[in-house]
Amino acid sequence: MPHTYDPTNVFARILRGEIPNKTVMETPHTLAFHDIAPLAPQHVLVIPKGSYVTFDHFAAEASADEIVDFHRTCAQICADLGLSIGSGGPGYRAITNAGGHGGQEVPHYHLHLIGGRPLGRMIERA
Ligand code: AMP
Repeated sequence: MPHTYDPTNVFARILRGEIPNKTVMETPHTLAFHDIAPLAPQHVLVIPKGSYVTFDHFAAEASADEIVDFHRTCAQICADLGLSIGSGGPGYRAITNAGGHGGQEVPHYHLHLIGGRPLGRMIERA
């Protein structure tokens, strides 16, 4: 089934400048901003500027430039926030939700970068 992008979603509206965001970093292909309802002391959302619905949509259809830009932006944010274990930081969690079973609320691909406290297990056992 093709990925159908809904241009009315809240992150599309942020990208169009229709609603504000607290920007952490912006590059030609990527925007990162603070989550409006943070789950930990640090909670940043990283989104591509292109119209991709999920991680797998982005991974399959984005250009190499977009994919590299997105991930280098994530790395820079981990460094800037002092989270990267490569710089002696405490670590963090990167999460992306996709579709119904994934619990995705906003249908524009985004990676959550969450840190600033111990985060426990990744997921509860069923
Ligand atoms: P997900 O459930 O993975 O789709 O996550 C969507 C995230 O977007 C949630 O953590 C929300 O708190 C966050 N969110 C929703 N609206 C906004 C907004 N206007 N600005 C920043 N974060 C938002």
